[in-house]
Amino acid sequence: MEESEVLEIFENTNALLEGHFLLSSGLHSNQYFQCAGVLQYPQYAEEIAQDIAANFKNVNVDLVISPAMGGLIIGHEVARAMKTRFVFTERSKENDKMVLRRGFDLEEGEKALIIEDVLTTGGSVREVLKLLERENVLVAGIGFIVDRSDNKVKFSAPKYAVYQIPLVVYQPGNCPLCKKGIPIDRPGSRKKKLI
Ligand code: ZN
Repeated sequence: MEESEVLEIFENTNALLEGHFLLSSGLHSNQYFQCAGVLQYPQYAEEIAQDIAANFKNVNVDLVISPAMGGLIIGHEVARAMKTRFVFTERSKENDKMVLRRGFDLEEGEKALIIEDVLTTGGSVREVLKLLERENVLVAGIGFIVDRSDNKVKFSAPKYAVYQIPLVVYQPGNCPLCKKGIPIDRPGSRKKKLI
Protein backbone atom coordinates (compact mmCIF):
# COMPACT_ATOMS: atom_id res chain seq x y z
CA MET A 1 0.00 0.00 0.00
CA GLU A 2 1.10 3.54 -0.72
CA GLU A 3 1.68 5.67 2.39
CA SER A 4 -0.94 8.14 1.14
CA GLU A 5 -3.55 5.35 0.93
CA VAL A 6 -2.85 4.27 4.50
CA LEU A 7 -2.99 7.84 5.76
CA GLU A 8 -6.29 8.35 3.96
CA ILE A 9 -7.75 5.32 5.78
CA PHE A 10 -6.51 6.65 9.14
CA GLU A 11 -8.07 10.03 8.40
CA ASN A 12 -11.37 8.59 7.16
CA THR A 13 -11.74 6.52 10.32
CA ASN A 14 -10.61 9.24 12.79
CA ALA A 15 -7.84 6.92 13.93
CA LEU A 16 -5.17 9.61 13.96
CA LEU A 17 -6.14 12.34 16.39
CA GLU A 18 -4.36 15.69 16.79
CA GLY A 19 -4.55 17.59 20.07
CA HIS A 20 -3.17 17.23 23.58
CA PHE A 21 -3.24 13.74 25.05
CA LEU A 22 -2.32 12.01 28.28
CA LEU A 23 -0.84 8.62 27.34
CA SER A 24 -1.11 5.52 29.52
CA SER A 25 2.62 5.97 30.27
CA GLY A 26 1.82 9.30 31.96
CA LEU A 27 3.57 11.30 29.22
CA HIS A 28 1.86 13.93 27.08
CA SER A 29 1.64 13.93 23.28
CA ASN A 30 0.26 16.05 20.47
CA GLN A 31 -1.02 13.02 18.61
CA TYR A 32 -2.93 9.86 19.41
CA PHE A 33 -3.36 6.82 17.21
CA GLN A 34 -6.50 4.81 17.94
CA CYS A 35 -6.13 1.56 16.02
CA ALA A 36 -9.66 0.42 16.83
CA GLY A 37 -10.83 3.38 14.74
CA VAL A 38 -9.50 1.65 11.63
CA LEU A 39 -10.30 -1.90 12.66
CA GLN A 40 -13.99 -1.21 13.21
CA TYR A 41 -14.19 -1.41 9.40
CA PRO A 42 -13.48 -4.97 8.26
CA GLN A 43 -12.71 -3.86 4.70
CA TYR A 44 -9.83 -1.69 5.98
CA ALA A 45 -8.60 -4.43 8.30
CA GLU A 46 -8.57 -6.75 5.29
CA GLU A 47 -6.68 -4.27 3.09
CA ILE A 48 -4.04 -3.61 5.75
CA ALA A 49 -3.68 -7.33 6.52
CA GLN A 50 -3.13 -8.08 2.84
CA ASP A 51 -0.31 -5.55 2.81
CA ILE A 52 1.35 -7.25 5.82
CA ALA A 53 0.82 -10.71 4.30
CA ALA A 54 2.36 -9.55 0.99
CA ASN A 55 5.47 -8.43 2.85
CA PHE A 56 5.91 -11.95 4.27
CA LYS A 57 4.84 -13.81 1.14
CA ASN A 58 8.22 -15.49 0.73
CA VAL A 59 8.20 -17.14 4.15
CA ASN A 60 6.24 -20.28 4.87
CA VAL A 61 4.37 -19.94 8.12
CA ASP A 62 2.19 -22.47 9.91
CA LEU A 63 0.38 -19.99 12.08
CA VAL A 64 -0.15 -16.37 13.02
CA ILE A 65 -0.02 -15.50 16.71
CA SER A 66 -1.06 -12.22 18.36
CA PRO A 67 -1.18 -10.84 21.87
CA ALA A 68 -4.73 -9.98 23.01
CA MET A 69 -6.46 -7.57 22.79
CA GLY A 70 -4.66 -5.28 20.37
CA GLY A 71 -3.50 -7.94 17.91
CA LEU A 72 -6.70 -9.99 17.67
CA ILE A 73 -8.47 -8.45 14.69
CA ILE A 74 -5.45 -7.68 12.56
CA GLY A 75 -3.79 -11.04 13.41
CA HIS A 76 -6.91 -12.91 12.36
CA GLU A 77 -7.07 -10.98 9.08
CA VAL A 78 -3.38 -11.65 8.34
CA ALA A 79 -3.94 -15.37 9.02
CA ARG A 80 -6.86 -15.32 6.59
CA ALA A 81 -4.71 -13.64 3.93
CA MET A 82 -1.87 -16.13 4.50
CA LYS A 83 -4.26 -19.10 4.75
CA THR A 84 -2.86 -20.24 8.10
CA ARG A 85 -4.44 -20.81 11.48
CA PHE A 86 -4.59 -18.09 14.10
CA VAL A 87 -3.99 -18.29 17.85
CA PHE A 88 -3.64 -15.63 20.50
CA THR A 89 -1.93 -15.14 23.82
CA GLU A 90 -3.54 -13.44 26.78
CA ARG A 91 -2.57 -12.37 30.27
CA SER A 92 -2.96 -14.97 33.00
CA LYS A 93 -5.29 -13.71 35.72
CA GLU A 94 -3.06 -15.32 38.36
CA ASN A 95 0.33 -13.82 37.56
CA ASP A 96 -0.20 -11.41 34.62
CA LYS A 97 2.14 -13.52 32.42
CA MET A 98 1.41 -13.95 28.71
CA VAL A 99 -0.03 -17.44 28.18
CA LEU A 100 -1.81 -19.60 25.60
CA ARG A 101 -5.20 -20.81 26.76
CA ARG A 102 -8.40 -22.10 25.13
CA GLY A 103 -6.79 -25.34 23.95
CA PHE A 104 -4.40 -23.59 21.54
CA ASP A 105 -1.57 -25.98 20.85
CA LEU A 106 1.83 -25.25 19.31
CA GLU A 107 4.01 -27.96 17.84
CA GLU A 108 7.77 -28.01 18.06
CA GLY A 109 9.36 -26.77 14.83
CA GLU A 110 6.32 -24.86 13.62
CA LYS A 111 6.91 -21.43 12.07
CA ALA A 112 4.94 -18.45 13.34
CA LEU A 113 4.33 -14.87 12.31
CA ILE A 114 3.65 -12.50 15.20
CA ILE A 115 1.12 -9.74 14.49
CA GLU A 116 0.34 -6.77 16.73
CA ASP A 117 -1.54 -3.54 16.06
CA VAL A 118 0.89 -0.85 17.28
CA LEU A 119 4.60 -0.99 18.16
CA THR A 120 5.61 1.42 20.90
CA THR A 121 7.97 -0.31 23.33
CA GLY A 122 7.52 -3.86 22.01
CA GLY A 123 6.85 -5.31 25.47
CA SER A 124 3.97 -7.63 24.53
CA VAL A 125 5.75 -8.88 21.42
CA ARG A 126 8.84 -9.70 23.47
CA GLU A 127 6.67 -11.79 25.79
CA VAL A 128 5.20 -13.66 22.82
CA LEU A 129 8.74 -14.24 21.50
CA LYS A 130 9.73 -15.79 24.84
CA LEU A 131 6.67 -17.99 24.90
CA LEU A 132 7.41 -19.24 21.36
CA GLU A 133 11.03 -19.89 22.26
CA ARG A 134 9.92 -22.06 25.19
CA GLU A 135 7.65 -24.02 22.82
CA ASN A 136 10.45 -24.37 20.22
CA VAL A 137 8.39 -22.52 17.63
CA LEU A 138 10.37 -20.52 15.05
CA VAL A 139 9.52 -16.88 14.35
CA ALA A 140 9.50 -15.95 10.68
CA GLY A 141 8.66 -12.30 11.22
CA ILE A 142 6.78 -9.68 13.20
CA GLY A 143 4.19 -7.41 11.59
CA PHE A 144 2.47 -4.23 12.81
CA ILE A 145 -0.07 -1.80 11.46
CA VAL A 146 1.82 1.16 12.90
CA ASP A 147 5.37 1.54 14.19
CA ARG A 148 5.58 4.36 16.76
CA SER A 149 9.08 3.43 17.93
CA ASP A 150 10.95 5.63 15.43
CA ASN A 151 12.61 2.36 14.37
CA LYS A 152 14.39 2.20 17.73
CA VAL A 153 12.86 -1.11 18.87
CA LYS A 154 14.61 -4.14 17.35
CA PHE A 155 13.68 -7.82 17.52
CA SER A 156 15.38 -11.12 16.77
CA ALA A 157 13.12 -11.61 13.71
CA PRO A 158 12.44 -9.34 10.70
CA LYS A 159 9.97 -6.56 11.44
CA TYR A 160 7.48 -4.88 9.12
CA ALA A 161 5.01 -2.05 9.73
CA VAL A 162 2.47 -0.75 7.23
CA TYR A 163 3.02 2.80 8.49
CA GLN A 164 5.53 4.68 10.65
CA ILE A 165 4.37 7.45 12.96
CA PRO A 166 7.14 8.28 15.44
CA LEU A 167 5.65 9.12 18.82
CA VAL A 168 6.33 12.66 20.06
CA VAL A 169 6.12 12.76 23.85
CA TYR A 170 6.57 15.44 26.50
CA GLN A 171 7.19 15.17 30.22
CA PRO A 172 4.13 16.51 32.08
CA GLY A 173 6.21 19.28 33.67
CA ASN A 174 7.76 20.36 30.40
CA CYS A 175 4.97 20.14 27.85
CA PRO A 176 4.52 22.99 25.33
CA LEU A 177 0.82 22.15 24.99
CA CYS A 178 0.31 22.46 28.77
CA LYS A 179 2.14 25.80 28.65
CA LYS A 180 -0.30 27.02 25.97
CA GLY A 181 -3.15 26.05 28.30
CA ILE A 182 -4.68 23.51 25.89
CA PRO A 183 -6.98 21.14 27.81
CA ILE A 184 -5.67 17.57 27.99
CA ASP A 185 -7.62 14.56 26.77
CA ARG A 186 -7.37 10.99 28.02
CA PRO A 187 -8.04 8.85 24.96
CA GLY A 188 -9.20 5.32 25.60
CA SER A 189 -10.44 6.02 29.09
CA ARG A 190 -14.04 6.58 29.95
CA LYS A 191 -15.04 10.18 30.33
CA LYS A 192 -16.64 11.23 33.59
CA LYS A 193 -20.33 11.89 33.37
CA LEU A 194 -21.18 15.51 34.12
CA ILE A 195 -24.61 14.79 35.56
ZN1 ZN B 1 0.77 18.56 28.26
